[in-house]
Amino acid sequence: MSGKLLQVNDIRVSYGHAEILHGISFGMDAGSIVTVIGANGAGKTTLLNAIMGVVPCSGTVLYQGRPAPRSVEGRVSAGMCLVPERRELFATMSVEDNLELGGFLRRAADRKETLGEVYQRFPRLAERRRQLAGTLSGGERQMLALGRALMSRPRLLLLDEPSLGLAPKIVAEILTIVSELRSSGVSILLVEQNARAALEIADEGHLVELGEIRRSGPAAELAVDPALMASYLGGE
Ligand code: ATP
Repeated sequence: MSGKLLQVNDIRVSYGHAEILHGISFGMDAGSIVTVIGANGAGKTTLLNAIMGVVPCSGTVLYQGRPAPRSVEGRVSAGMCLVPERRELFATMSVEDNLELGGFLRRAADRKETLGEVYQRFPRLAERRRQLAGTLSGGERQMLALGRALMSRPRLLLLDEPSLGLAPKIVAEILTIVSELRSSGVSILLVEQNARAALEIADEGHLVELGEIRRSGPAAELAVDPALMASYLGGE
């Protein structure tokens, strides 16, 4: 039995005959930000999908010391929530309706309270509550995707490339919000290609290459690792 919020052991995923993840194992403590970094196609998204139960995998996913519920809905009810890379918003629905959908498993009164909290955290979404999601800017869309995830009151957020396609200033804003979420008690598993930005806010990091973890360690150490710097942190 582990005291970890999340513990994955020997996760393997295959698409057809091709094995994409070759036995990934790591744990994360409650209240931490753990980042998984790596190049395009390394298997980062596949890893998040396996942990969330969106794609089948072998190995074990322990959540709060017990096997995670089988279904995705079960995992959401237990406090796990995935924010996918494509954000997957409903473009022709309003900001508020998108947020409401994020809380669909919860009672109406609880949902209303959380909606107020989300608007407090993201005043820009409050201003645009009647605007169609498809007309939001990239940064606002990412805020909406995060806000929608918060509507389920997650304990563990799985974030897939929140910085994707955003200008550096907006990336910094989004990652600051992610840090604040940790302070409010949400644990975060953050998949990022923007390794430098991710390591800045994370406690621990794992480098995935070709479906395997190649390096693990405290984020502050990985951020100054010469080999990692050359390959993933833009040199210097
Ligand atoms: P990126 O940073 O580009 O999003 P990633 O590290 O998240 O990459 P994955 O999206 O997990 O990588 O993809 C890992 C590998 O699995 C890639 O070679 C990809 O083409 C392959 N793959 C992903 N989904 C499928 C699928 N549904 N069917 C077949 N192959 C897939």
